[in-house]
Amino acid sequence: MHDFADLALFITGPTWIRPEARAAAALPEFGHRDAEANKRFDRIFHGLRVLAGLPAEASGSDGMQLCLIPGSGTNALETAVRSLAADDETVLNVSVGAFGDLFHGLALVNGKRAVQLSFPPGEAMDLATVEDALRQHAPAVVTLSHNETSTGVRHADIGDYCALVRRHGALPLVDGVSIFGGESVDLTTMGAAAYATSTQKCLALPAGLGILFASDDAVEKAKHVKNKGYVTDLTRHLDRAAKHQTLTTPSTSLANQLAVQLDYILHEETPAVRFARHRALRDMVHAFAETLPGYRLLAPETARSPSLTTLRCPDGVDSGRLKQVKETLRARGFLFDTGYGKLNVILEGKGHPPIFRIGHMGDMQPAMLTAFLDLLGPALAEAAR
Ligand SMILES: *Cc1c(COP(=O)(O)O)cnc(C)c1O
Repeated sequence: MHDFADLALFITGPTWIRPEARAAAALPEFGHRDAEANKRFDRIFHGLRVLAGLPAEASGSDGMQLCLIPGSGTNALETAVRSLAADDETVLNVSVGAFGDLFHGLALVNGKRAVQLSFPPGEAMDLATVEDALRQHAPAVVTLSHNETSTGVRHADIGDYCALVRRHGALPLVDGVSIFGGESVDLTTMGAAAYATSTQKCLALPAGLGILFASDDAVEKAKHVKNKGYVTDLTRHLDRAAKHQTLTTPSTSLANQLAVQLDYILHEETPAVRFARHRALRDMVHAFAETLPGYRLLAPETARSPSLTTLRCPDGVDSGRLKQVKETLRARGFLFDTGYGKLNVILEGKGHPPIFRIGHMGDMQPAMLTAFLDLLGPALAEAAR
């Protein structure tokens, strides 16, 4: 017996899981080096590649290789930065928020020589400022955020940044954790040397696997980088991935779910419909935000994420009130996101009101969002009174 509440998650990951994907966790366990594993993992490798705009089968010359890393998105980010920067090279971290800062921290704790370029929370990066930093630091590796989950800023032009980084002779490593599966991602044209994501954001499954794509030139470089650890060694992961396996034991429940979910995304819902649904959900949240007196969208219009939206509270609404809103919504079966904790500590420390987020990624349907917003509107108005 348990007393686990079945809440509809409107946080920014993990996300609500559709009943069919939830049930797929109960499919049979299997041996991860047995032929049964390939029934799941062939479909998973093919499906993820297709979702990234790549041919289903790696040909060795199509430019990008895929590995699956037990753990979560952070494991994929750490593997990328540890395996692709040598000790005597500089890593430039471009950050527009907390997850950009995480990427920087991962470089530092792995002993890399890392410098950071930070933009204020809520702002997008810009090409001229990034180029100045490239000139100043001459990095060999640059980390970038496709979609910053702490602020709701999405860089639609991430490919332009990858091209800029490559013109300066460096490898661009892209954090796509909270966007892959939520909008079209074409790794054949983006120019990323590494692109990382995970299962519990726009793919709408439990966490348990980091998903990492690496370009052929990055794969070649990793062979010569020393001190890559074991579970953070891109080369080892790719050796196993060539057989559609993982380096260490994966969650067999999650593998069952991921195989079923990719079939659904690619063949039932179809990617075009999925991406249009994400845009429609975002538009619904923007329209909702217009009706809320005093609350404002944080991200600039050109950079608003299709997977989550961040709002800034009016003066007088503090984190304590947001926590009350959360409990009001919990009592009605929803989990509300009171904002990225560390960011709100900083904002409130400077005398600014906090921010909060509405996750609208994964398999959320418009009717679910409407039900949530219908309760959230009055709760936020009450909080501002
Ligand atoms: C969630 C998230 C991460 C961390 O991923 P985990 O799967 O929690 O390890 C990193 N970057 C971004 C942008 C994220 O949204």
